[in-house]
Amino acid sequence: MAVPQNRVTRSRRNNRRSHDGLSASNPQECSNCGELKRAHHVCPACGHYDDREVVAINDEIDLDEEDAA
Ligand SMILES: [Zn+2]
Repeated sequence: MAVPQNRVTRSRRNNRRSHDGLSASNPQECSNCGELKRAHHVCPACGHYDDREVVAINDEIDLDEEDAA
């Protein structure tokens, strides 16, 4: 079993962890619906990207529909 040869000091441990922090995301307003969305991502609210609908948004899904047979 691998065993640490030397004790890692608080300083060295904390210096290693200095890069572990997460930075906050910077959401931008959708140019179509105004909802906040991630930059360079399709808007999850209206499915638009670059002023163009690229994903159709189904706002009502009927789970009781018996079409699947
Ligand atoms: Zn949108």
